[in-house]
Amino acid sequence: MLNCCLAVMPFCTQVTQDMSAASFEWLALAVHPTRLVLLIGWFYLCMYCVLWIQANEAIPDFYKAPAGLLTLVTGPMLPLVLIIIAAVQRSRQSQRGLLESLVEQLRGAFVDVHASQTAYQEEGAALQLVGPSGQTLDEIYGHGEAKRENAKILDLTETIVADAIQQRASDILIDPRDESSYTIRLRVDGLVRTVKELQVDPCRAVINSVKVVSGMDIAERRRPQDGAFLARQGDAVYSFRVASAGALNGEKLSIRILNKNASASTLSDLGMTPKEVGVINKVVQKPSGMILICGPTGSGKTTTMYAMLNAIDRFERNTVTVEDPVEAVLPETSQIEVNPRADITFAKTLRSVVRQDPDVICVGEIRDEETAETALRAAQTGHLVMSTLHCDNSASAIIRLLDLGVSPLLLSTGLNLVISQRLLRRLCPRCKMPAELSESQIAQLRRKRIEFAGIQEPGQCKYCDQTGYFERTVVCDLLPIDSRMKTQLVEDRTFLAYLKAEGAKKSHANLRKQAMKKVVAGITSLEELKRVIG
Ligand SMILES: [Zn+2]
Repeated sequence: MLNCCLAVMPFCTQVTQDMSAASFEWLALAVHPTRLVLLIGWFYLCMYCVLWIQANEAIPDFYKAPAGLLTLVTGPMLPLVLIIIAAVQRSRQSQRGLLESLVEQLRGAFVDVHASQTAYQEEGAALQLVGPSGQTLDEIYGHGEAKRENAKILDLTETIVADAIQQRASDILIDPRDESSYTIRLRVDGLVRTVKELQVDPCRAVINSVKVVSGMDIAERRRPQDGAFLARQGDAVYSFRVASAGALNGEKLSIRILNKNASASTLSDLGMTPKEVGVINKVVQKPSGMILICGPTGSGKTTTMYAMLNAIDRFERNTVTVEDPVEAVLPETSQIEVNPRADITFAKTLRSVVRQDPDVICVGEIRDEETAETALRAAQTGHLVMSTLHCDNSASAIIRLLDLGVSPLLLSTGLNLVISQRLLRRLCPRCKMPAELSESQIAQLRRKRIEFAGIQEPGQCKYCDQTGYFERTVVCDLLPIDSRMKTQLVEDRTFLAYLKAEGAKKSHANLRKQAMKKVVAGITSLEELKRVIG
């Protein structure tokens, strides 16, 4: 036995030595810097592919786990095969080049993974509503028995708010539908859609919980009230403005979600062309003069005003805004909110602001003669003034100001630029497809010498909530008030008649032209152009 062991021992030692030499060699290979980087890169690529498999809507849930495991072993082979198949299918459907479809699919894959990760992070973090006093909704409702009774309602309120954030809504509208039910609607990309119907009792409780967290009086159901609250989700903070008023069959509530990105968005982000940005920036950098933005309700006037403010160095130029209500929080800016009900009007606030002598003044909206005159006088006396006017086009903005009672001389010396604008919904980048145009459409486009090969139409997918559109882009008509026009305004009596007759048509035609450029580029669709501009 002993002999046997002694005979085997040298062999064992040899094997152990071989093994340790091999593992050292393997370790040396793995630690080799280039190989190590490649190894880590490969590992990350595999993990990315697994994430893509999990986010891919085309793979049934049942196959996702085995496909993920397979990908861990085979690397990016499976995702590549799937992407190539999808690209071939897409290129056949759209009669486009295979390479173009392939690039589109690959880009889509990156967006898929990113979107699923963001959604995961947002879903992971619980939403918490916080009132003006800093108390959370849970704290306001207290603990113990009372809280347990209310827990369902508080969850429902938080779900409604979280859904609105997730769907990129700008407003949540809660209205009584009839005596027994309420509807909850969201405004997304400017259009309202119904998302829920609730029975009277739970909905009243939801309304009360929103009013409580917004610091409003829940006993008052008829007279209009205003309030505000915040929502925290992970690191993100969202601000909300609430307005309540009595309505037929109950009480209505509208909740505006303030634009979180307004303090960072630029004119190009909004969709303006480099040429348009150049014209606007030239006027914005002047020390004085007025810039007027016009368009109907919901045409993004305030957003453009904020983007212009972002083009200004607000550390150097003292900036004050007068708004009703404040629609986004801007750093390094004094934002004053008017309250006509408490007799704090635009005109009064503006007068006191001008006395403080800031460099840049933003007036939320011109509604009356006094505001128009004060703003134009400020623009004339060394302040850069920006404001909005509710009207259809640039020409009618000038006529409207004159109709308000502003003198042509004041207008010509104060006004520098009029921007007329509209918002068009952008086609969803994930499901848009080449448009099938009718023969009459093609004939019409040919007549106007418009290149129609790039025109796209909306599809349907989960990313855009089956609407075919995702976010919006601005189209605008710029009317710089140059020295010739200034003289015409004061001296030429026929100029106003010309503006009335021709100006509006020209402005509309220009808006249409700018929008058509975006249709041809596949950014928006023909039907969206027709809906917004006509
Ligand atoms: Zn889509």
